[in-house]
Amino acid sequence: MKYLSTRGDATPRAFCDILLEGLAPDGGLYLPQAYPKVDAATLARWRGLSYADLAEQILALYIDDIPRADLRMLLQRTYTEQVFGTPQITPLKPLEPGLYLQALSNGPTLAFKDMAMQLLGQLFEYQLGRTGRQLNILGATSGDTGSAAEYAMRGKQGVRVFMLSPHGRMSPFQQAQMFSLQDPNIFNIAVEGVFDDCQDIVKAVSNDLAFKQRHHIGTVNSINWARLLAQVVYYFRGYFLATRGEGEVVDFTVPSGNFGNICAGHVARMMGLPIGKLVVATNENDVLDEFFRTGHYRVRSSRETFETSSPSMDISKASNFERFVFDLVGRDARRTAELFGPALARDGGFRVSPQEFARIAEFGFTSGKSVHADRLATIRDTWQRHGTMIDTHTADGLKVAREHRRPGVPMLVLETALPAKFADTIREAVGIEPPRPAALDGIEALPRRFQVMPVDAEQVKRYIVAHTG
Ligand SMILES: *Cc1c(COP(=O)(O)O)cnc(C)c1O
Repeated sequence: MKYLSTRGDATPRAFCDILLEGLAPDGGLYLPQAYPKVDAATLARWRGLSYADLAEQILALYIDDIPRADLRMLLQRTYTEQVFGTPQITPLKPLEPGLYLQALSNGPTLAFKDMAMQLLGQLFEYQLGRTGRQLNILGATSGDTGSAAEYAMRGKQGVRVFMLSPHGRMSPFQQAQMFSLQDPNIFNIAVEGVFDDCQDIVKAVSNDLAFKQRHHIGTVNSINWARLLAQVVYYFRGYFLATRGEGEVVDFTVPSGNFGNICAGHVARMMGLPIGKLVVATNENDVLDEFFRTGHYRVRSSRETFETSSPSMDISKASNFERFVFDLVGRDARRTAELFGPALARDGGFRVSPQEFARIAEFGFTSGKSVHADRLATIRDTWQRHGTMIDTHTADGLKVAREHRRPGVPMLVLETALPAKFADTIREAVGIEPPRPAALDGIEALPRRFQVMPVDAEQVKRYIVAHTG
């Protein structure tokens, strides 16, 4: 299996060539040259597998430069009951006949990003170990991604994490989650600014190519192909749990921001998994809903990007979206490069042609939007009628899913976080405190390890140099 760039760079690259990469050199995103196809007989064979065994079957189709026994070992280490709280890893919670939540948020940071990031930690350590290389991950976070990365990389050989966050602006729970880590390879930098300042510092450091090379700077953002690939597995898993035989079809609704999660659903569907609809659920930041309704992709300015009670979906543009558009335009790299290069820079967006727009249905995509009041109503209703407490992002998904139910077709809503992370909104909705997994009781009282720094890229560079030897 070789990988290409959505913007036309066709240098054939193997999985491990792109494992530690973000963007392709031409600014595009990596995708496999073709999606491996899975037939009904194969699905039937996979139905009874454990999560780790299923992951091995799927990932082996995409990874041919890690020996199978090693891949197997890495997956068996990643998807364990100890890390994800249940042997099922991503169990279904039935709400009513044909409507399920698929729990993706039982990992260490209580959000679905653990599903992929935990595997990335294993893969990075393995690949760095066998090539004798080092990696210093530099990132900016307002919460979820940073903590998932730190919990995945803690204690891993050859990897250090330097994570910038806006000083005093994350929730007390998120600060405690990140800053209580005492692992010597994890460095929390609290920047005296806002999230955008943190991102600007990451860009400034990454744009210093000499520094970047000399100090082995890398990232773990959501465009990383390995992250996306890891997420493909739970669509298969959800399908098997919700059906009894291979003739059946299921729909998925996915609370979406950067389009990484649902893009994995698209890949699963392209492989032949019988997914009918892929429903994109957005919050007030409705870039994606607008596109799927109108064919117009319009990147938002920071003034038009709202801070909402489902903050992990507060995006101005969707960084994985280019992957889907590449498939939508028939894998025409020149067209993709025109849309995401000049058109985006010139006009802040683009409109696909009527013919391209008409093809969206062939890919199963549709969309909907949810706002704060919907979130509150959905959390309250789900608690009162089903006795199930859901988080704000999952509430956006469930609200939109209900608008897209089809008779006789199971609908799976991906649960992307646990309510404990968003206690304020839960209290507002149902008047009680969300339960917290026992392992996280009292984390606010643990000793903290972090460094406060002004908005100054040079100072961040000096800090990295001082801590990488
Ligand atoms: C990251 C995140 C999302 C959005 O996922 P994308 O892959 O960016 O679309 C939704 N919900 C939660 C809780 C998240 O952390």
